[in-house]
Amino acid sequence: MLRTLVCAMAMTVASLAGDPARAADLPHIVILATGGTIAGAADPRSGLGYNAGAISADALIASVPGISAHARLSAEQISAIGSQDMSEEVWLKLAARIDALDKTADVAGIVITHGTDTLEETALFLDLATRTDKPVVLVGAMRPATAVSADGPRNLLEAVMVAASPQARGRGALVVLNDTIHGARDVTKTDTVSVQTFRSPNFGPVGGVSPDRVVFYAAPASRQSFPSKGGPLPQVEIVYAYAGVDARPVEAARAAGARGIVLAGVGDGNASKATIAALQAAAKAGVVVVRSSRTGAGPVLRNIELNDDELGFVAAAFYNPAKARVLLQLLLANGVTAPDKVQAAFLPTP
Ligand code: GLU
Repeated sequence: MLRTLVCAMAMTVASLAGDPARAADLPHIVILATGGTIAGAADPRSGLGYNAGAISADALIASVPGISAHARLSAEQISAIGSQDMSEEVWLKLAARIDALDKTADVAGIVITHGTDTLEETALFLDLATRTDKPVVLVGAMRPATAVSADGPRNLLEAVMVAASPQARGRGALVVLNDTIHGARDVTKTDTVSVQTFRSPNFGPVGGVSPDRVVFYAAPASRQSFPSKGGPLPQVEIVYAYAGVDARPVEAARAAGARGIVLAGVGDGNASKATIAALQAAAKAGVVVVRSSRTGAGPVLRNIELNDDELGFVAAAFYNPAKARVLLQLLLANGVTAPDKVQAAFLPTP
C-alpha cells in the first residue's frame, strides 16, 4: 500500500515535470541570482574553505531534484558575490528587475538567491523600495553547494514553492531558510554557522514549508513604501556603543558627511554621556539620529531611558541597527527628515 502511494507520488512529480502540456500550466518563477554560500563551491585551499557565488544560477536549479514540478523556472545572474560585498548598486538593479517583472503578466513570483550575511538588509530594502504584490522570496544557505548535507538545494526548492504560492502574494519580501518563512522587517541572522540561523526575534516566523505544502500562520503585515528614487542613497552611518566609547565615532561619522546616524546602543538604545552629547549636537545640526540597540531583540521606544523629545532623537522601535540604517536611507531619499515624520515611519500608529 505504502509502496503504491510512494510510486504514485513519484509518478505525479515525474509527470508534472515531464509533461510539456502540464508544465505550461505551472506558475513562472524568475530566479535572480546574486551569489553567496548557496552558490558556493569548495576551495581546495583547505577542507573547510569555499568560494561564495562560484556556481551559476542554472547549475543551482539543475541541482534540485523535483523543482520543475512546482514551477516553470528561468534564471538571471544579477551578481556573483558574497553578501559581505552587497552594494547599493546591486540593490538598485534588483529593485529595477522586480519592478519590471511586476509588469510582466506571465511571471507569478520572484526568488532571489543571496549570501546570508546581509540578506536581511536586502530583504528590507526590497520590501520598502518595491511595490509588487507578487511574492519576492530571498533564500540562502549556510553550507556550500558542494558540502555534505548542503542545505541550499532544499532551501531553493522551498523558496520556489513559497514564490509559487498564491498565499504569499501581498506580503512584501519574504525570507525562506530551513523550512521557515520570515517577514523582511523582523528577520535577522543570529548564528555564524548553524543552519537554523535566521530568526524573527520580536514577532516570530510568518509561516513554514513542509515537503508537500506552504503554510502561513500570520496575517500579512501592513506595508510601507519608500521608492529608492534611483539612488545614490543618502549616507547613513552606524555608531556602535560599548563601555568606554567617547565622542570620536560620532564625530568621524559627521566628518565623513553622514546625513543620518544610527546608534547601535547598549540596552535600550543608550550610550555614554560623551556619545549622547555628540549625537545631540549632530541632531541640532540637522543630522537625523536614530537610536537602536545592539541587544538583538526588543523595542527601543521614545523617552524611556533618554528624553528623545529634548535630544531631538528618533527611537528605532523594532528595527535593528542595520535595518534602521536601510529605512533611514530610504526616508532621507524621499525627503523625510523631520524627526516626528521619521519617527512615524519607524513606529507607525496602528
Ligand atoms: N559571507 C558569505 C555571504 O554572505 C557567505 C555566507 C553565506 O552566504 O551564508 O555571501
